[in-house]
Amino acid sequence: MQTKRSYIDGVQPEAELLKEGAEWLRAGELVAFPTETVYGLGANALNDLACAKIFEVKGRPQDNPLIVHVCNRAMANRLVEAWTPVAELCVQHFWPGPLTLVLPKTAIVSNVVTAGLPNVAIRMPSHPVALRLIEAAGLPIAAPSANLSGKPSPTSGSHVWRDMKGKIPLILDAGACQVGVESTVLDVSGGVPTILRPGGISKEQLESILGEIQVDNPSECQVPKAPGMKYRHYAPRGELILMIGSTERIVQRMGNEIHRGHSRLKKVGVLCTLESAPFLHNRLPDLLFVLGSKEHLEEVASNLFEGLRLCDERGMDVILAEGVKEGGLGTAIMNRLQKAAGQRIQYVL
Ligand code: AMP
Ligand code: MG
Repeated sequence: MQTKRSYIDGVQPEAELLKEGAEWLRAGELVAFPTETVYGLGANALNDLACAKIFEVKGRPQDNPLIVHVCNRAMANRLVEAWTPVAELCVQHFWPGPLTLVLPKTAIVSNVVTAGLPNVAIRMPSHPVALRLIEAAGLPIAAPSANLSGKPSPTSGSHVWRDMKGKIPLILDAGACQVGVESTVLDVSGGVPTILRPGGISKEQLESILGEIQVDNPSECQVPKAPGMKYRHYAPRGELILMIGSTERIVQRMGNEIHRGHSRLKKVGVLCTLESAPFLHNRLPDLLFVLGSKEHLEEVASNLFEGLRLCDERGMDVILAEGVKEGGLGTAIMNRLQKAAGQRIQYVL
């Protein structure tokens, strides 16, 4: 398949490009588009064949449900059987934005989208291209991240191009995504609201509006409520080692690991904070990527997937990643790094 990559204005998207995207979506085809979190791979959420293409193109496990994107409340109402007071509060305070709500589904939402679950996950994105595209299509759009399953999510049109070229008809490219990590998935279907996946809206932000909330911890139970959380994710090709501890100790340990890697003829890349970078240059890693300042975790979040992908492009065999402090956006960043690392986490306190 021939893939067209159209550059679109991220603030005032061109009407004719939106129209083209909407036509493909209405015809049951896939369109990749930017959101404020990461790029989405969109399909008509009410068309099972179109949604099935998402799973096929990404190589996504069938039991991992899709988030449905809407552009207004009326569209959301068609998908949700019953809104809870907590859900209403969330909509009021966090939509449009990087918060996905899990709520009981109506009959028009098929089992292909929800992987057989009784609830649907929905979100209203704030990116003008995403909102206007959904509006132009006049349809709810199912959209997971526009990457091959298991790989780091795409935060630029170039990332999508590399993963989706030849597989889908259209990529709408508006450059880099602002948030850079996926949405927070919050179960508000009843009982205490529960975070199923940390993301762009922090637990602290949610608690300031909703009061106490819970966090689903998939490592403590066999069946996570968000099926996607059990899969290895965000992983570059190289072996990623996550290091958690003080700057001083991390710099020392990374120096040792770089030396060890080189003695085994491995290419070693480093993903670190702005604060550690000056001490790591002279350890001669094959790639030094600065994620951003510890004091500005929104920088780290927005650069994270670019850093992971760059390590792959430059052929790093080993990737040493510096952890950040949990809390706020730090929780979402650490969740992605821990998943990318698998079991390879070193505490150097
Ligand atoms: P992705 O679209 O790849 O960023 O992943 C979407 C996340 O939301 C995955 O962790 C899914 O398991 C989760 N999710 C999607 N739909 C539902 C649902 N109906 N109930 C619970 N979790 C969901
Ligand atoms: Mg994904």
